[in-house]
Amino acid sequence: MKYVSTRGNSPALAFDDVLLAGLAVDGGLYVPSQWPEFGPSELRAMAGLDYPEIACRVIRPFVDGAIPDDRLARMAADTYRDFGHPAIAPLKQLGANTWLMELFHGPTLAFKDYALQLVGRMFDDVLARRGERVTIVGATSGDTGSAAIEACRDRASLDVFILFPEGRVSDVQRRQMTTVAADNVHAIAVQGTFDDCQDLVKAMFGDAVFRDAHRLSAVNSINWARVMAQIVYYVVAAVRLGAPDRAVSFAVPTGNFGNVLAGWAAWKSGLPVDRLVIGTNRNDILFRFFETGEMALAGVEPTISPSMDIQISSNFERLLFDMFDGDGDAVSRWMADFREHGSVAVDDSRLVEARRKFAAARFDDAETLGVMKEAFDQTGELLDPHSAIGWAAARRCRGNPETPMVCLATAHPAKFPEAVGTATGERPGLPARMADLFEREERFTVLPNDLGAVQRFIEAASGGAGS
Ligand SMILES: *Cc1c(COP(=O)(O)O)cnc(C)c1O
Repeated sequence: MKYVSTRGNSPALAFDDVLLAGLAVDGGLYVPSQWPEFGPSELRAMAGLDYPEIACRVIRPFVDGAIPDDRLARMAADTYRDFGHPAIAPLKQLGANTWLMELFHGPTLAFKDYALQLVGRMFDDVLARRGERVTIVGATSGDTGSAAIEACRDRASLDVFILFPEGRVSDVQRRQMTTVAADNVHAIAVQGTFDDCQDLVKAMFGDAVFRDAHRLSAVNSINWARVMAQIVYYVVAAVRLGAPDRAVSFAVPTGNFGNVLAGWAAWKSGLPVDRLVIGTNRNDILFRFFETGEMALAGVEPTISPSMDIQISSNFERLLFDMFDGDGDAVSRWMADFREHGSVAVDDSRLVEARRKFAAARFDDAETLGVMKEAFDQTGELLDPHSAIGWAAARRCRGNPETPMVCLATAHPAKFPEAVGTATGERPGLPARMADLFEREERFTVLPNDLGAVQRFIEAASGGAGS
C-alpha cells in the first residue's frame, strides 16, 4: 500500500517512510491511497481474538510488508502486555445500550498510549533495520510529553527531548515526565511558557543544519501510524458488540481530530459504524464546522479539559481530502485560504455528506462539571472532564437508540482530580502501579528560553550520531 499527501504534491511513500517522515514535504498529511476492506467474514473471525491479535489483523494491510508479520505480532504483544487491565481496552455497560470503552490503562493513563506505545516500537524497529538513529523533540503543555517519553524510553535508536514550561504543568504531569529513569529520555524545564517551548521546537526544525545533523523527528498526532494504531480499538469495540451483523456508534471527545478520524478510517475500511459523535469544549471550531460548514478561527481559551484546548485540528485535513474526492490541489487552496483569512467554508452538498456520518455537541466548563456529576449519580462512574464531554455528546446526538453507543474514555479520572472532586465530591486515586509516583526520584534540566542553550544541551546529551 502506498500513501499520498493530502496536498497532492509529494511522492507516494510506503508505510515505513511515512512513519519516519511524519509530515509530507508539501505540508500535507499522508493518507492511504486506497482503503483496505475488512469484510464480514474477517470481522467475524476477529470477534474471538484478543486485543494484540486484532491489532495485527487490522494493521497488517496498512503496513503492507514494511514491517514483517512476525515482528508486528511480537511488537503488538509486547506493547499491550504491561497495560493495567487484562482486556487492554475494557468495555463497561453504562446504560441500556450505552458503553464506555476505557482507554486509560496504559503507562500515562490516557488514550494516546494505545497508539504511541506501538509507534515507538515501530520507529525503533525500522531504524534498527536501516542502521539509523533519530532525535525526537517535542513541546508539551502537560499530557502529550509523558506519553511520548513513555513511548520512546529505552529504545536504542531514539533519543527523546521534551520541553515543558517550568512551573506551569501539574505535579502529576511533571513527575510523569521526570521520573522516567532511562538514559535516552531528557525532560527539559524551559524558563518560559508553553508557547515559548513550541517556538523553540519549531526553530530547531527550521534550522536545517541542526535538524539534519541530529535527524530531528516528531511523534505528534499528525503521524499516520498513530491514527492507524487507533483504528484497532474501534474494531475491538464493534466486534465485541455484534459487528459485522450490527452497526455501532461512537462518541469521541475531540481536539486534534486524530482519535475520531481513526473511527472514520475504520468505517472507510469496512467496519459498520453508524455515527461518529464529536464532543468539544468551548474551543468549538469543529462543532461550528459541523453546524455551518464554515471553519472559522477563534482564540483558544483554557478549560478543565485541556487536551482539547486546540484551535486548529490538524487531522481534519485528512477528512477534507476525502470530502474533496482526493483532490490535493483543492485541499491546498482551502488550507491556504484558511491560513490567510482565518475562515473558509465547504459547500452545502459536502456538508450534508459529512453530516451523514458525523454529529457534534459542545459543552462549557460548567456544563461539563454538571454532566460529570450526572454520570456519577446515574452510573456510578467517575469520568474525567474529557470523557464526560464524550458521554454528554453521545446523549445529545444519540440517533437510533437500538444502535450500541460506545463512549471513548480518553483519560483516567485520577489525571484530573481537582475537576472530578469539584463535580462529584469524590477524589479518584492513582492506580496501584502508579501510587509511588510522588516517591520516585525526579531528573530534569532547567534551561533558559534560549534556542542556543537548548541546542547545545541536545548536542551534548544525544547518545548516538549527530555532529
Ligand atoms: C489528546 C486528548 C484528547 C483529544 O484527542 P484528539 O485525537 O486530539 O482529538 C481527548 N482527551 C484526552 C484525555 C486527550 O489526552
